[in-house]
Amino acid sequence: MMRIGFGYDSHRFVAGRPLVLGGVRIEHAQGLAGHSDADAVLHAVTDAVLGALAAGDIGERFPDTDARWADADSAQFVAEAMRLAAAQGCTVANCDVTILAEAPKLGPYKRRMAERIAELLGAAPESVSVKAKTNEQMGAIGRQEGLAVMAAVLLTDG
Ligand code: MG
Repeated sequence: MMRIGFGYDSHRFVAGRPLVLGGVRIEHAQGLAGHSDADAVLHAVTDAVLGALAAGDIGERFPDTDARWADADSAQFVAEAMRLAAAQGCTVANCDVTILAEAPKLGPYKRRMAERIAELLGAAPESVSVKAKTNEQMGAIGRQEGLAVMAAVLLTDG
């Protein structure tokens, strides 16, 4: 059995918050607006796992109206999605993430993000890929109003 899931997330940049992506603190003048720690990478990964399980979405399971998730470490969203996966006998075969951000430069952080995501998914580090691109200065992302993330996850019962 194999099941594929796809996740997408976007957040606006805002002053006065730390920037956390893939569970890694990133040096930048701005962070991301959001109810939790606004880690768009872990949100997209969570939705990819939930999608593979056909188990709803992150907004439904961790609503931003719930005070429990205020400033929450988004690692717990991935952990909860993985509990659901484990309950169905599923493990992660691989995960592929693309971050769209005009700034900051994420190259120096990609390996650490992949290692942290692998840890959260219970997957081997070499089975997690984190890629970063600019949006070629086009649109809201190009104007550095925020960033977006896409993630694909393949679950197997092997
Ligand atoms: Mg989000």
